[in-house]
Amino acid sequence: MRGMLETVMANTSWVVGKDDLSFWHDNWTGKGPLRDLYPDDIEQNIKINEVINNSGTWYWEKLHYEVHDHWKIILQNKFQLREELDKAIWDPARNGDFSIKSSWEFWRTADQETERLQWIWHKVVPTKIQVFYWKMWKNIIPVDGVVSKLVCLPSKCSCFIDSKCEDSDHLFVRGELATHIWSHFSRFCGVKMVANQTYWARQGTWFKAANKSTQMGVARGILPGLICWEIWKARCKFRYEETEIRHDLLIREITSCVQDCLKNVTLNVDKNFSDTISIQLLQLHTITVLVRKTIVVRWCKPPVGFFKLNTNGSIADNLCGAGGIVRNSRGVMVFAFSAALVPGTNTTAELYVLLLGLQHCQHNIWFPLLVEVDSEVVANWYNKHNKVPSRLRGM
Ligand SMILES: [Zn+2]
Repeated sequence: MRGMLETVMANTSWVVGKDDLSFWHDNWTGKGPLRDLYPDDIEQNIKINEVINNSGTWYWEKLHYEVHDHWKIILQNKFQLREELDKAIWDPARNGDFSIKSSWEFWRTADQETERLQWIWHKVVPTKIQVFYWKMWKNIIPVDGVVSKLVCLPSKCSCFIDSKCEDSDHLFVRGELATHIWSHFSRFCGVKMVANQTYWARQGTWFKAANKSTQMGVARGILPGLICWEIWKARCKFRYEETEIRHDLLIREITSCVQDCLKNVTLNVDKNFSDTISIQLLQLHTITVLVRKTIVVRWCKPPVGFFKLNTNGSIADNLCGAGGIVRNSRGVMVFAFSAALVPGTNTTAELYVLLLGLQHCQHNIWFPLLVEVDSEVVANWYNKHNKVPSRLRGM
């Protein structure tokens, strides 16, 4: 705690304001009180705001002790008198305010971001498995081989035949159980099974076959972690609860775990044959990407001797407008009109303009007539597919 307090003090400086910080005796520079720079006792009591004024002028002559030149430079560059109250500045935080997050970032030694670590912390993997996997990365999973470095410990792995001392490579890759599990998933996922690998090498083989954009790519990236997690759980149950390890159950657990991890993620579906088979074997849920179909709509001439009426009505800001056009069988316009309508809805506008168009055609005897409107509702009424609401029947 003491060491920590010193570290905090060393990384705290002050915005010097109107308060009474002592020039010699307070740690306002973040490097300790300035009196500590002197072998003799400093007896002068003088406030910082007596040594510096608002415009940034320093009155060194007021001090009874000479300040070293390099300190003068540091102070002149770093501090100025402000209007507000004195305020402690926590140097590691960007805004100067102390926070747990900035302190954590300050104290911790971050791992260098590597391809392997990105798989370990992959967002689809549940947090408890991420943390377990990270511990494997640090080689601190308490297998016998790790514990026996601290205390003298006899060790026997969980294999039935030819049991050995339990270390990470044996438990997670080379032992009977691990070999069985890895060969199953190697077959299912199309990853080459290399015998006698260390755990590190096995992880590398799988990551090489992984990628972040396809379903099977991600499955191969996260499976090494899931496999080890389930092996570890089964090993602990066997040791502490004397629960029998069943290979088939373990495989089922791992498969359902990978299915859960991938069920809500939209990823590209793998196109190659081998990956398609793997997806079926693992029964991964395939998220179908909706493909919008584009329909080309174009105007066609009516048959010889026919006329065609096209109408359109719309509404914007409660103003209704509509228009229509009549063409003959050669596609030549014979009549066009537009109209401002009383406020209504898109449908009433469509309906009115159809009525206007039909009246014109009737008046000019443009028959036989084909009609095209862009309202499905109106078309269905007209063709008697749906009943016209009673309030509109009068039209
Ligand atoms: Zn074993």
